[in-house]
Amino acid sequence: MSDRDDSPGRFRSRFALPRDAAGEPLVYFCGHSLGLMPLAAREVVTEELDSWAALGIEAQFSGRRPWVEYAGQVTAGFAALAGAQAHEVVAMNALTVNLHLLLASFYRPRGERRRVLIEAGAFPSDRHAVAAQIAWHGLDPGECLFELAPRGGEDLLREEDIEAAIGRAGDTLALVLWPGVQYLTGQAFDIARLTGAARQAGAAIGFDLAHAIGNVPLAMHDSGADFAVWCSYKYLNAGPGAIGGAFVHERHARRADMPRLSGWWGVDPDTRFRMAHGFECAPGAAGWQVSNPPILSTAPLLASLQLFGEARLPLLRQQSIVLTRALESEIDRLPTGEVTLVSPREASARGAQLSLRVRGARDRGRRVHAALGARGIVGDWREPDILRIAPVPLYNTLAEVRRCGQALREALVAEP
Ligand SMILES: *Cc1c(COP(=O)(O)O)cnc(C)c1O
Repeated sequence: MSDRDDSPGRFRSRFALPRDAAGEPLVYFCGHSLGLMPLAAREVVTEELDSWAALGIEAQFSGRRPWVEYAGQVTAGFAALAGAQAHEVVAMNALTVNLHLLLASFYRPRGERRRVLIEAGAFPSDRHAVAAQIAWHGLDPGECLFELAPRGGEDLLREEDIEAAIGRAGDTLALVLWPGVQYLTGQAFDIARLTGAARQAGAAIGFDLAHAIGNVPLAMHDSGADFAVWCSYKYLNAGPGAIGGAFVHERHARRADMPRLSGWWGVDPDTRFRMAHGFECAPGAAGWQVSNPPILSTAPLLASLQLFGEARLPLLRQQSIVLTRALESEIDRLPTGEVTLVSPREASARGAQLSLRVRGARDRGRRVHAALGARGIVGDWREPDILRIAPVPLYNTLAEVRRCGQALREALVAEP
């Protein structure tokens, strides 16, 4: 896609596009919150309902995709998107649940080494999970939670400041939890760099990839990070409440000694149905599974991963950079001082999303957001004062980016 190319990507026609009252497609720039439905999702879900209807329990072991191996159907797609080996990833649960399960294994406070570094602006669920884990160990979150804020007057965190904070915490640091892409600002972090710093300090490090997976290319294996978690209803288009994912680095694949909150689905599939008492852990990330997977919330993910497999993330990323840059120039052409771009300006330091702050603070920002909605532009509003818009290369177009620019101009005039 060049900057002038108006042709919709070849995958747009394979998504259901929400429409306005007149039946015209809305400009859906909210894939960072809930990705659109791949048309094939309906088919895959229907196939599983049909298997259930026709086969009952037999569908566990027969039919087109036996349920007993269902999570395994996702493995190759997840591995490609996470930049991981197949046995390093698993589809299970939801993001925050996976975060708890992996913190249970990787947050092992000992003596003075008990602090957890997170960003001060972390997504509330991540902060709740970390604070709860600290308390679960009988420790004080007030003392053990180490929250790093951007420098005064800045919105973005500088990587050298994160490294310095890790260095300062030194051997009091047990774990770092960091986003791959920050949900509010859209800032993308150098995962390998932060991992290097954490490991040098002797701390474990995990990443929340909610806004990174399917958005930016990842190389989780090579980064050396201990673990990562994600959801698949954002850029992965797997539908509301869809099954989440997790990565556990290969070096932990056979750590039977590691404490974990086990369940029968983490038992090696070869021995799982012997119903024995011994926990013979499946190697790799699969060993962290607890329950049998929700088939109906995994099925749409298969439809979506099929599209990612055809489109290939490096090519999508190139297109994404073009779209987001075009959106950035629309924003730069707005009347001076009306809108501030909060997201980084370098393509390498952001994903698809741009976050904006509107002059006149929160109240006007909310009104401008509503005025955009009235013009058919679907972005979202995040308290206290951020408007998020994300053109998604699988289904958005440059023409939509220009329409969004025009709508922003009108909305700013309409809401003085
Ligand atoms: C979307 C998102 C979540 C959502 O958590 P669920 O457990 O899937 O409800 C958590 N953390 C971050 C950073 C997110 O962006």
